[in-house]
Amino acid sequence: MIVITGATGQYGRLVVENLLERGVPAADIAVAVRTPARAADLAGRGVTVREADYDRPDTLVPAFAGADRLLLVSANGPDDLRIAQHRAAAAAAKEAGVGLLAYTSLFDAARSPLSLARVHRASEEAVTATGLPSVLLRNGWYTENYTAALAGAVERGAIVGSAGRGRIASAARADFAEAAAVVLTGDDHVGKVYELTGDTAWSLPELAAEVSLQSGREVVYTDLPADRYAEILLGAGLPGFLVETIVDADVHVSRGALEPVTGDLAALLGRPATPLATSVGIALKG
Ligand code: NDP
Repeated sequence: MIVITGATGQYGRLVVENLLERGVPAADIAVAVRTPARAADLAGRGVTVREADYDRPDTLVPAFAGADRLLLVSANGPDDLRIAQHRAAAAAAKEAGVGLLAYTSLFDAARSPLSLARVHRASEEAVTATGLPSVLLRNGWYTENYTAALAGAVERGAIVGSAGRGRIASAARADFAEAAAVVLTGDDHVGKVYELTGDTAWSLPELAAEVSLQSGREVVYTDLPADRYAEILLGAGLPGFLVETIVDADVHVSRGALEPVTGDLAALLGRPATPLATSVGIALKG
């Protein structure tokens, strides 16, 4: 059985869809989710739905029972909370005796200057400390981090950030999810550390140019000091911890932290990663 956590989230859902598309029987898939009611559609398709809340460790061992392969999808809260959650999940995976533990980490987690990397270093350590066969899926940036809000950007004619001309080797969330499905259904991945990136790095001014081209409306990138960008994000209603993470990441992007292209993602997919222009096109179609 393949067990996926976070399967009511955007990435986890895509992993489940991909497993089904590649012929894994629904009966061989279980989702371990915080709110089982939100996975009712998957239950209707024959996927086993179990309750698993990282904040309630007693839910985790039963949820991971019988997992030949477990994909631990990192949570989405404040950093210290996430470290505790991922440690609890790794410990439960050990107790449940899962056959393979795959964890969604961050590109270059071991050396990355992003503040976010602290969560993933601690979580990778927890995964490794289980002694279970494991795989680290060090995901680079989702292109959707930048394209999710493009409708508003076109309306305003503006994209703002603090990344300067720094380049980002992003890929579509669906690419990273497909790579996870490849790993979960394949052999020879034990002990691997995949540094997953898109095939081409692009900058925010280039994103603005692509959006202008495809929308037919002029959209300009304006680079802001970090504190000004943070004010804007807070004003838009984002929680403080998330604003800190986004702004910190942009500042490090400006220095090249997410620029490297590794080829690991395309190799797992057996095809190129989704290019920026395609993701922009999908986002603009809404
Ligand atoms: P989402 O926010 O859509 O999904 C996060 C998932 O984590 C949800 O299913 C959520 O459950 C689950 N979760 C949160 N807290 C708990 C908990 N206490 N117990 C169990 N499950 C929990 O993010 P994505 O799917 O887009 O991305 C997956 C992960 O990748 C993110 O959580 C984050 O760690 C990371 N990420 C990576 C990015 C990148 O660019 N590489 C960008 C953004 C995030 P529920 O559905 O109940 O809310």
